[in-house]
Amino acid sequence: MQKALLPVRYLTISTGMYELSHTGEPSIDFAWPNAEYQKCYAPFDGIVKKIYEPTNGVFFESKEPVLWADGTYNYMTVYLAHSNDISNIYVGKEFKQGEYFYHMGNKGGGSTGVHLHFGVSAGKFYGDGWYYDPNAQRWILNDAVEPPTALMYSNDTVLGDDTRYNWKKESEVHEDKYVGTPVARNENVDQIEVYVDMLNCRKEPSINAEVEGYANLGIYNVCGYAEADGYAWYSIEPNRWVAHNKEWEHLYPKKEQPQPEPTPEPTPQPDDKDKKIEELEKENQELKDKISLLEKENKALKEEIEELKKQDDYKFTYIADHDGFYKIELFKGETLIIK
Ligand SMILES: [Zn+2]
Repeated sequence: MQKALLPVRYLTISTGMYELSHTGEPSIDFAWPNAEYQKCYAPFDGIVKKIYEPTNGVFFESKEPVLWADGTYNYMTVYLAHSNDISNIYVGKEFKQGEYFYHMGNKGGGSTGVHLHFGVSAGKFYGDGWYYDPNAQRWILNDAVEPPTALMYSNDTVLGDDTRYNWKKESEVHEDKYVGTPVARNENVDQIEVYVDMLNCRKEPSINAEVEGYANLGIYNVCGYAEADGYAWYSIEPNRWVAHNKEWEHLYPKKEQPQPEPTPEPTPQPDDKDKKIEELEKENQELKDKISLLEKENKALKEEIEELKKQDDYKFTYIADHDGFYKIELFKGETLIIK
């Protein structure tokens, strides 16, 4: 769906609606600060329906319904006049939106200087495109409408000294629709509640960013934060930003998770302490006794070992108490120890 865009890229007005040469009708004359801004661009994809040679006037009709500055949809037919050269234009010729297709000039119609005369008809072109009004004593476009209700200025248009009317900017105009899917309240995440109707929801966090629609009322999880153009911006869904103002939204910061409490060591009561000391001392004494006993056993064993070692040193020594032969008989595996 195309938005209907003004054909000029520098917006300043030399003759307004209903005044002077526009008495009785809402046409507008646009002026210019330098030659570059004398270029005029196709407001939408459209087709040339009629050429009025005395002024090199061109009736240009949209091929499809377009989005109007007032948020409605309709076909639109615009009338541009006074170009000095329309050799590129003929009835049936089509131009794409944004295409440089016309030039300001001062051809015919009592023009006193280079400008663009611009008028708008609601709907498709029909009949002659205009009719003669004997009261106004001039030709008036069929179903003439005020241009500020119909066309918006493009995002790259420079605003001049005399814009005069409440023009809408391309990025400000959107389908009259609501976007966003509210969620349930959740204390564990940052949330924001939109409670004002018709809150603009923009594609980026900037007052110049394109408006996609109005945010549906309700609670959203905050999925982004930015500061720009004097606002705090919250992203309620990917590529959907709302400017924050407490009149418009309410913030619900997530609930802090409770910190796990360190388990304190139970402080022993004085009585318990004394009891504990007593027990430990008793235990200590028992262990000391045990050690003492083991040391004694150890000592005895060591002595026994020494004794056994000494046995290796023994030589067969026998001191007889009288002369004679002594017979000792051993069985297999028996050891003879003589002290
Ligand atoms: Zn005019």
